[in-house]
Amino acid sequence: MTALEKNELPPINRHLFIQCADELFAEALTGILVVNIRDFKRINHTFGFTVGDHLIAEIFERLVSVKLKQSRVFRVGGDEFGIVLSSLVDPQLLVLAANKVARLLDEPIKIGERLMQVNVHIGYASNSNADYDVENVLREAEILLDEAKRLGRSYVQIDDGNSIKNYDWELESELNLAILSNELELYFQPKISLNQSEKLHFEALARWPHESRGMISPVEFIPLSEQTGAIRPLTKWALHSALRSMSEWPGASSGYSVAVNISVQSLEEDGFSDLVKSALNIWGVNAEDLTLEVTESAFIDEGAKAVECLHKLKSLGVSISIDDFGTGYSCLSYFKSLPADELKIDRCFVEHLLDSGDDKHLIQLMIDLGHRFDMEVVAEGIENQETFDVLAGMGCDYIQGFYLAKPMSETKLIEWLKVYQKKSD
Ligand code: C2E
Ligand code: MG
Ligand code: MG
Repeated sequence: MTALEKNELPPINRHLFIQCADELFAEALTGILVVNIRDFKRINHTFGFTVGDHLIAEIFERLVSVKLKQSRVFRVGGDEFGIVLSSLVDPQLLVLAANKVARLLDEPIKIGERLMQVNVHIGYASNSNADYDVENVLREAEILLDEAKRLGRSYVQIDDGNSIKNYDWELESELNLAILSNELELYFQPKISLNQSEKLHFEALARWPHESRGMISPVEFIPLSEQTGAIRPLTKWALHSALRSMSEWPGASSGYSVAVNISVQSLEEDGFSDLVKSALNIWGVNAEDLTLEVTESAFIDEGAKAVECLHKLKSLGVSISIDDFGTGYSCLSYFKSLPADELKIDRCFVEHLLDSGDDKHLIQLMIDLGHRFDMEVVAEGIENQETFDVLAGMGCDYIQGFYLAKPMSETKLIEWLKVYQKKSD
């Protein structure tokens, strides 16, 4: 009999997990593991909720049965489990525990006639640092969990360069200050239309000119801001700066439009669409001249709140763009219901366009798919004339890349606009 047939779908109780850890922290060296099922939402979408429930019950049972010394297992979220390990002799043993948990799922899970291979991401931490209370320990474990997700691994080792020891606490507090004191800058990169669209389109990209470290890339500070909650003020700043900047660009008869990158977390915040509405009002920008770029995974991975927010934004008249398309998941059912206007083919496909027939086919499929759903298709990362020509021939609507223009500061952009407009007169 499977775990679910025994009617044992474990209830979700995060509070009990925290309480248990808290009590044991007061007594001795204690560790926690947080275990998240990889791609669980996709599994639910593809195979249905009954299969999803079976998986949860089976994984829970395997976690309980594993011989980890003095452990207690809790279900702490829809697809997440928490394990408390008491009487830990050495914090290093947590890596072994994480490995043991990952190995538990080496063997596929049988559901009906189907054999399913499931993977997990694991984060872990202990109260070995005497100042740590349960909140700090949980946060540390969540950071390692996020890092494991980012790297596509089951878990990361504390000393393999992704470590919590290397976690840049200093940079974190500096980032908060930099946002508050308006030290970040927005750069702008044109998206050039291949269909004689009159409007000039630009994507706003954040930069952090740091006093001692030089220019810090968003690839570094956006994930940091997402982990720490700084993404909230950062997104507000990016929206206002982009709209303020566009409202000051020299008048072009054709008009401008600007795209701002939005983190999934923002879509889940209360009142995000109101924030967008009020920014448009403050800077006197029409909603049609603003695009919000959201990475593809957001469209599949997120809950009802994010989807509802996308619909609200759409009803304001703002355009929605699916960024980094092709790098997320294979399940495309979200296309039917989501209000996207634009699809951006990720650079990793464009990079190999000239030397890989497969990538060329994939790009053609993505262009056709976008058009089929009434979306405009943008190709990112064009670095030479040949790639530009091939993409133009394939029916792409917009092209973006260093070949046409690199992201530029506001001052450089004004100069670029003058030259561009002179050329097109
Ligand atoms: P993205 O939105 O996909 O932006 C495109 C990235 O590709 C930019 O990197 C851009 O500089 C780079 N790029 C454009 N053309 C080329 C090319 O021809 N060759 C190469 N090698 N690269 C090209 P950047 O500016 O470092 O931004 C990285 C990512 O950070 C962005 O990817 C976006 O996801 C995120 N990001 C940037 N600004 C913000 C922001 O204000 N808010 C949020 N939430 N995310 C942001
Ligand atoms: Mg983007
Ligand atoms: Mg992109």
